[in-house]
Amino acid sequence: MHVIIVGAGPSGLVLSLILARASIQVTLLDSEATIDSRPRAAHYAPSAVRVLQQAGVLADVRRDGFMPQDMTWRKIDGTPIVTLKDCSQSRHNPEALTVLPLNLLGKLLLKHAEDNPKIELGWNQRVVDIGQDAGRAWVVTRDQAGDLVEIWGDYVVGCDGANSQVRKSLFGEKNFPGKTWHAQIVATNVYYPFEKFGYDDINFIIHPTDYYMAARITTDGLWRVSYGEDTTLTLDEVIAHQPAKFARMLPGHPQPTDYRLLNVGPYRIHQRCADAMRVGRICLAADAAHLCNPFGGMGLTGGLVDVGGLAECLIGIAEQRVDAEVILNVYDRVRRGVYHTIIDPISSSNFLRVSATDPETAVEKDEYLAMVKRAGDDEGLRKELDDVSSLIVLLSRGLRDFFKGEGGL
Ligand SMILES: Cc1cc2nc3c(=O)[nH]c(=O)nc-3n(C[C@H](O)[C@H](O)[C@H](O)COP(=O)(O)OP(=O)(O)OC[C@H]3O[C@@H](n4cnc5c(N)ncnc54)[C@H](O)[C@@H]3O)c2cc1C
Repeated sequence: MHVIIVGAGPSGLVLSLILARASIQVTLLDSEATIDSRPRAAHYAPSAVRVLQQAGVLADVRRDGFMPQDMTWRKIDGTPIVTLKDCSQSRHNPEALTVLPLNLLGKLLLKHAEDNPKIELGWNQRVVDIGQDAGRAWVVTRDQAGDLVEIWGDYVVGCDGANSQVRKSLFGEKNFPGKTWHAQIVATNVYYPFEKFGYDDINFIIHPTDYYMAARITTDGLWRVSYGEDTTLTLDEVIAHQPAKFARMLPGHPQPTDYRLLNVGPYRIHQRCADAMRVGRICLAADAAHLCNPFGGMGLTGGLVDVGGLAECLIGIAEQRVDAEVILNVYDRVRRGVYHTIIDPISSSNFLRVSATDPETAVEKDEYLAMVKRAGDDEGLRKELDDVSSLIVLLSRGLRDFFKGEGGL
């Protein structure tokens, strides 16, 4: 089997590695000259950790990353509202929540892909169209010289991110059902000693306008601060406003000389899911298929679970253990089901919790925070909470169960 993957982001790279480990030939194409290094994902929930294991990279990810300890929701003055102790449960869970900034994860994945003879990497190859017939699927790419080239395979997978050309070619330029929040989020990477102010590894600050997340993302003291900003500000205005925002929001009210800022990246946030994640021999995965806001880190986690499941489907097809038509429909149904029942509602409530909840009454009125508080003194409830947090893991495992029931594995 030969699979063409469009997009060498984290989802495309991980899918390539899993398929190549099963001796499937992969052509991985990207429109850019190398991987994207903007500050984006950093936290990978247990369901994604299992997929990193499937790709054979977990040991390296664990070597370079770490497993966070406590997670606290706070008022803007830093006062803790409630804390979830040992949020990754790293002592009990071999697939514990793991942190590694995406630029570092990307480099690590790329190294593994470059070392794998089953993966052919094509940079500066923008996919501009796709097609298929009964026995084959293909992409049309435009290279740097402007020449169009057709590349043929058995399947095409669009891992080409939020503005996916594969999705647009399948469903139309503007067809990506869902909504865009009336909010602008600014993601920054900054060296600043939050721990001196009693901040934990992950902190969510609840406030109507100055809401933010501050999370340690490396072991050498780099933090991700993602904060809400006025939607009317331009990029230049966001950058100019950042020192005033930090001085007002962060503990210790720092001036620019008190911290080292590495990146500032504003972006709009969405909750969207494509009408289908499979049309014939062409599939979509990760951001190309669905988007959510970043509070709670469910974007790439959901994307990695897509590619873990899709890889199992394609490997089953290559080994003639499953019916392609049946199993790819299962992929489509299960993964969109998980988006609509888990990722969309949970990530939406994560965002509303920090941006639209009264911090004074949050712990009484917000069901989740109330449960976190009660779980502090109740081991049984804590276990229940961890089980709820594992819901995505359980549902992602559903694909395997469907395999057995419908696909014949
Ligand atoms: C600030 C921020 C914080 C986040 N934090 C988290 C987190 O903690 N945990 C989490 O799970 N998720 C998080 N996310 C979401 C996460 O970063 C994304 O879900 C993830 O990067 C999507 O990966 P992807 O491989 O699907 O797409 P991308 O990373 O967007 O990669 C797509 C690739 O496709 C290429 N491409 C695009 N168009 C074409 C074309 N026509 N032809 C060829 N190649 C093309 C691009 O060059 C790119 O390399 C965060 C997002 C943001 C913005």
